[in-house]
Amino acid sequence: MPADLHIHSNFSDGIDTPEEIVGLAKKAGLNTIALTDHDVVDGIERAQKAGEIAGIIEVIPGIEFTCEMPNAEVHILGYFIDYKNSKLKTVLKTIQDDRVKRIGRICEKLNGLGINLKPEEVLAISGSGVPGRPHVARALIKKGIVSNFKEAFIRFLDNKAPAFVGHYRLTPVEAIKLIIEIGGIAVFAHPAVSNCDDLIPDFIKDGLRGIEVYYGGHNYLQTKKYLALAKKYGLLVTGGSDFHGTNSGREVKLGDTYLKDEYLKELKDEHLRRNKS
Ligand code: AMP
Ligand code: FE
Ligand code: FE
Ligand code: ZN
Repeated sequence: MPADLHIHSNFSDGIDTPEEIVGLAKKAGLNTIALTDHDVVDGIERAQKAGEIAGIIEVIPGIEFTCEMPNAEVHILGYFIDYKNSKLKTVLKTIQDDRVKRIGRICEKLNGLGINLKPEEVLAISGSGVPGRPHVARALIKKGIVSNFKEAFIRFLDNKAPAFVGHYRLTPVEAIKLIIEIGGIAVFAHPAVSNCDDLIPDFIKDGLRGIEVYYGGHNYLQTKKYLALAKKYGLLVTGGSDFHGTNSGREVKLGDTYLKDEYLKELKDEHLRRNKS
């Protein structure tokens, strides 16, 4: 059965709880998923428990690191990570604390543009999850300042828009090395979105082992190109929907983009090999 290896819960900028995600996966006929929240791992244990109760859903512990590059936004996925590792927790705490402070900085910029939005209004939406730009977008929609998600990003939140603010983040090398250190497999997420193929050989030298070939935002030619690239460099092939929740402002459904069994097996085999040695 196919697997969806790119999913966000309400522990980051998704809408659904880990239990709801497992329920949706079951409905979609999947038997393997990976929870890959942005810069947070706190939903994994709950998803795994729910998967056990559901009886058929294996939940691979994952993460998606937002990384720092001067001219590109690079996201690195980690699979089969030891999510309880203390060094990981320390690094994530630093990132998460700055993500909270950054909401204040985004609101200041919005205030400067004549838009009245308080950090508390955004943090009320992210709740106990780690806040990000999608929560700001939802707050702007709620206040009637924009009519949809897309408009919020285009007018205010995109990397080059006037209320954009970055946050503390690892470089891709640091993320890859940390993932390896905690027993995980590092994968370049949605490469066409980052649009920096020239950096892939460097990432591989740093320990990158896979590439997200199958992704909703990749068109046919891009998928073909990254599949060829995976073959050329001997990289593992992964895939997923990047589901952020029903009514999340995106039309993607869980399981919309999935990974075939043969690729999942190769990923799992790599994990088993590493555990043996
Ligand atoms: P952050 O991690 O807080 O910088 O927010 C990045 C997240 O915002 C991404 O992972 C997506 O979920 C979402 N996002 C980024 N750009 C856009 C966009 N143009 N339209 C909709 N969502 C976006
Ligand atoms: Fe996201
Ligand atoms: Fe991403
Ligand atoms: Zn994602």
